Amino acid sequence: MANIKCIGILTSGGDAPGMNAAIRAVTRTAIYNGLEVKGIMRGYKGLIFDEIEPFKTNSVSNIIQQGGTILKTARSKEFQTPEGRQIAYEALQREGIDALVVIGGDGSLTGARIFAQEFNYPIVGLPGTIDNDLQGTDLTIGYDTALNTIMQAVDKIRDTASSHERLFFIEVMGRECGILALNGAIASGAEAAIIPEMSIGQDQLGDLISNGFRKSKNSSLVLVTEGDITGGAMAMAERVKTEFPQYDVRVTILGHVQRGGSPTANDRILASRMGAAAIDALLDGQRNVMIGIQNDVIVYVPFSKAVKKNKPIQPDLVETLKVLSI
Ligand code: ATP
Repeated sequence: MANIKCIGILTSGGDAPGMNAAIRAVTRTAIYNGLEVKGIMRGYKGLIFDEIEPFKTNSVSNIIQQGGTILKTARSKEFQTPEGRQIAYEALQREGIDALVVIGGDGSLTGARIFAQEFNYPIVGLPGTIDNDLQGTDLTIGYDTALNTIMQAVDKIRDTASSHERLFFIEVMGRECGILALNGAIASGAEAAIIPEMSIGQDQLGDLISNGFRKSKNSSLVLVTEGDITGGAMAMAERVKTEFPQYDVRVTILGHVQRGGSPTANDRILASRMGAAAIDALLDGQRNVMIGIQNDVIVYVPFSKAVKKNKPIQPDLVETLKVLSI
C-alpha cells in the first residue's frame, strides 16, 4: 500500500447541500489521523490550473450548516482529455498530494475512475448530488435537502392551486432519474409524478387523463422530472391546453432553488459519516471506490458500478403514489 501522507479534496459538477459538511468531515478526519490536507478549488479545473491551498482544522470551521461548497465547483473540458489529465497529475505530484477525495455526481466520479486507472492513483469518491442517481448507495449527499425544498415549494403551490382550482405541472430536477419527482410527489400529496423511468414506451400523461385524475379534486398537482425524456412541464401543459381547453393549467419550474439552502440534519449526518469513511477507506488501502450507504451501513462501491446508468425505482413508490391519489 502506498504511504499516504497528504490528501487533496475537491468538489466537482453540480453543487449539492451537504458538500461543505463532507469537506469538513474529510479534512478533520484526515488531520485526526495525522495527514496533511490540501483543498483544490473549482473541481478538476483547479487541479489543472493549480488552485490548491493548505487546509487546517479551522479552514472548515462554521461551514457544516452552509449550502453550496466553499471549495467552489466547476465543469472542466480539459480534464476530459488525456493532455488535461496529464497536467492534473503533474500538479498533484508537485504539490505532494498522495491521494484524492472527489465529491460529485456521476460525471465527476467517471472522471475520477478514468484518472485513477490512467495514473494508478488512489482516489475515493463521495456521492455529492441532489439527484440520488448513483448506483450502490441508497442516498446521495444533498438529496434529502432538495427533497425537502421541493416538498415545501409544492405545499405553497397547493394553496394557490386549490384556491383557483387549477392544474399545476411542477418541474423538478433529476435529469434521467425520477426519484426526486416521485418522492417529492408522495411527500407533498401531489396527484402524480411523470418520471423518465416510466416515460419510455408509455404515455404517462395520457394515462393520467384517461383515468380521470381530476375527478374528485378541486386542484391537481403533477410533478415532472426535467429533461428530454419526459419533455418537461411546459410540454405537458401545452398538451393539456390543446386537448383539454377546459382545464386551467399553470407551470412552475422550481429550478436552482432546489440546489441551495442549509442542509437537513440527515444530509449533514450522511456527509459527516461518508467524509470520515473516505479517509478510513484510503488508510485501509481502498482505491477507486465510492463511499455508499446501504441499509444504514457504510459500503465501498467500485466506481465502475456506481456510475452505471439506470438506478432502479422501487415499484412500491409508484404504486403508493397511485393509491394515495385516488
Ligand atoms: P451532477 O450530477 O450534479 O450534474 P456531475 O459530477 O455528474 O454532477 P458533470 O458535469 O457530469 O457533473 O461532470 C463534472 C466534471 O467531471 C466534468 O466537467 C469533467 O471535468 C469531469 N468528467 C465528466 N465526465 C468525464 C469523463 N468521461 N472523463 C473525464 N472527466 C469527466
